Amino acid sequence: MRQPLARELHDLLERGRDRQLRLAVTGLSRSGKTAFLTSLVNQLRHAGLEARLDLLPVAREGRLLGARRVNQQDLGVPRFPYDQAMAALDATPPHWPEPTRGISELRLTIRYRPTRRGLLGGETRELALDLFDYPGEWLLDLPLLEHDYPSWSLAQQPARGHQRAALFTDWLAAAAELDPAAAADEGQLAELAEAYAEGLRAAREAGFADLQPGRFLLPGELAGAPVLQFFPLPGIEGTERAALDRLPPESNYATLAKRFRHYQQHIVRPFYRDHFRRFDRQIVLVDLLGALNAGPERFEDLSRALANLMQSFDYGKRSLLSRLFAPRIDRLAIAATKADHVTPEQHGRLVALLEALLAEPLKDLRFADVPVRALSLAAIRATESREVSHQGRRSPALRGTDLSGEEQLLFPGEVPDRLPDAAFWARQGFDFPAFRPAPREGGALPHIRMDAALDWLIGDKLQ
Ligand code: GDP
Repeated sequence: MRQPLARELHDLLERGRDRQLRLAVTGLSRSGKTAFLTSLVNQLRHAGLEARLDLLPVAREGRLLGARRVNQQDLGVPRFPYDQAMAALDATPPHWPEPTRGISELRLTIRYRPTRRGLLGGETRELALDLFDYPGEWLLDLPLLEHDYPSWSLAQQPARGHQRAALFTDWLAAAAELDPAAAADEGQLAELAEAYAEGLRAAREAGFADLQPGRFLLPGELAGAPVLQFFPLPGIEGTERAALDRLPPESNYATLAKRFRHYQQHIVRPFYRDHFRRFDRQIVLVDLLGALNAGPERFEDLSRALANLMQSFDYGKRSLLSRLFAPRIDRLAIAATKADHVTPEQHGRLVALLEALLAEPLKDLRFADVPVRALSLAAIRATESREVSHQGRRSPALRGTDLSGEEQLLFPGEVPDRLPDAAFWARQGFDFPAFRPAPREGGALPHIRMDAALDWLIGDKLQ
């Protein structure tokens, strides 16, 4: 194996020659990352054969020769389970792949013919594409680096809507009893931390997304470790910082503050330092339709979570991220996923809504001169669009099979093209079931605009 420094240098040279690209896929849980990465690999593997990639010039022009999976470079990162995902989609009946829970990686070598041939004609080139998939929840922790324990505790306190606060009442009742100055009891802190994590999980189940600390939701190998056994301390609003700092090291307060710092230093920072900083391109997936389906409070919450998450892409010179990690993502895509849940004439509105939802972060990104594109897509299209006649009028509809195996023909509703107002929610004109993937006979996975996403993310490297 190469030495890390030699490897970095090698990577740098390869990238300089446009032969290596690190593309990262993220989004909150259930936003569609696993489906997206599976489809991306599948489309490229079938490029030049059955894959329909007309919006990707290298494919349209017949220059894309195919892609092969090769061994990845980071031996410490789990491999993205592509074969398992395909096995799920090819089962009878087909089902959705198990979502990944942490960071995973897969390397493809893409072969293509360049637009300008060399003197000898017939020349082919290769691009090594490193694909990474990691939970968007991890990005929710970036703002946490700007806090110390007391300021974070305060920031987590405000009651954010009744539904959400209700999920934390048990935890709050118990945590409010905790005396910051008393000697810490490991068992009690573990219990309270578990109750807090429970609240976060319940909030996520209920569709909320603005949840910190992110790893409490996807602890992976850290489950049960003391580094995850902290929580915001209620009731310290009136207490002087200096008084808190004087509390003895074995006190509840000092123990929790120490764990918070450990979480910052050993969990949050390393992700940015070892992975994030090295990504060249990024796509952020957003399940906007799911949030519309779930109602106003969850929609608001998604909006807050995205604003938080997008801070990780704000490269303004003075941004926290630039100061700490000097990242280099030079192109960003933001995609509303599962577009096959609405009829095709709604797709434009879906993008408009995504842009409206992300208006502020998009402004910051444009200001920081990070090229960004918003789009809508379906990684794995599970429905077909149809027209139905009703009382002499023709209208668009979708046909698909729901998760229980029932055939459905329906019109799921109109997507608002701006942030939904009270009138929209009063009508609640939006409702759709989850569909199961369609059975297939080999070939490439059906999709909507995966080729447009690919063009934006890698097209310029395949010229
Ligand atoms: P992850 O948690 O971000 O990896 O999300 P997944 O990729 O596991 O997707 C979550 C769920 O969304 C899947 O189990 C599917 O039910 C649904 N889904 C994802 N992508 C699509 C798509 O392109 N079309 C449809 N109809 N459903 C999708």
